Amino acid sequence: MTASDKTIAQRLLHWYDANARGLPWRAPPGTPPRADDSWPYRVWLAEVMLQQTTVAAVIPRYAQFLDTWPDVTALAAAGDAEVMAAWAGLGYYSRARNLLKCAREVAARGGFPRTEAELRRLPGVGSYTAAAVAAIAFDESAVVVDANVERVVARLFAIEQPLPAARAAIRDRAGGITPAQRAGDHAQAMMDLGATICTPRNPRCDLCPLSGQCMAFAAGDAVRFPVRPSRPARPQRTGNAWWFEREGRVWLVTRPDKGMLGAMRALPDDGWSARADGNGVAPAQADWVSIGSVEHQFTHFSLTLAVHASANATPRGTGEWWPVAALDQAGLPTLFAKAARLARA
Ligand code: SF4
Repeated sequence: MTASDKTIAQRLLHWYDANARGLPWRAPPGTPPRADDSWPYRVWLAEVMLQQTTVAAVIPRYAQFLDTWPDVTALAAAGDAEVMAAWAGLGYYSRARNLLKCAREVAARGGFPRTEAELRRLPGVGSYTAAAVAAIAFDESAVVVDANVERVVARLFAIEQPLPAARAAIRDRAGGITPAQRAGDHAQAMMDLGATICTPRNPRCDLCPLSGQCMAFAAGDAVRFPVRPSRPARPQRTGNAWWFEREGRVWLVTRPDKGMLGAMRALPDDGWSARADGNGVAPAQADWVSIGSVEHQFTHFSLTLAVHASANATPRGTGEWWPVAALDQAGLPTLFAKAARLARA
């Protein structure tokens, strides 16, 4: 552990001693792990319930579970239907099935294993849960990385690599600041810091015990971390629109109810979409004059719309002649308003 890593670990524990969230599955900061098996049971149960479910939703259900099944032997003896019914509303029901499977295996082997590696072999116990139970219930110096910890570490060390590739580096750095003693408190302190101070959008760096060591804070750019992968480039589509003009009026159609810009007035076009270019077929034979194109960004694609004009073409199908002078009252979507401006220029 470097001197800086040590400072981070010490400052974090100091902060946790004064600011730990009081949660029903927690012992107060500084409490040594209890020797009996009730403690890993409580920690494990909480960690399974908290996967994909908020703390506020878990608290009452956790209390009900403990009332009904106060230890792992009691839970192991419960019927499948009974446990599934108690889980109702918490979602992700595979967690309840795995919970029961795991409880039965733990009861059969006479108690919880005490190391991260052995915990990991229990049914339904993933790497995060194994590390969290090993650290919190047995004080093993396991590296516990959930989404909160991931964010804090990425910011502390200004990790430039984007997720998910950055996870190995984040884990490595998280390991570097995990102390040999009070590993459980350290893990919970990181979670609390991420949940209450180093929040995703508005980190409260002014209140953070680690601001003096935080590289993202020093760079004045905390919210940029963790770096997200850049979105794939928007596909580029092309299409055509036609400006029929006659005696100061322009031909407008109403787009189909369903689909892009549904039920809005528009210039006739050639059926471009997010998935395909337009077919390029003009809606009427005429001496069309190409007058340029407009660019438009939709959420999922970019469109280059070529605009063609004619003063002698006869439109087909349903539409309406709209006064050019009152075009701003037609409610054209931005794309077609741009095309209309080009045609009138
Ligand atoms: Fe997070 Fe700010 Fe603290 Fe850095 S200083 S760990 S960005 S809250």
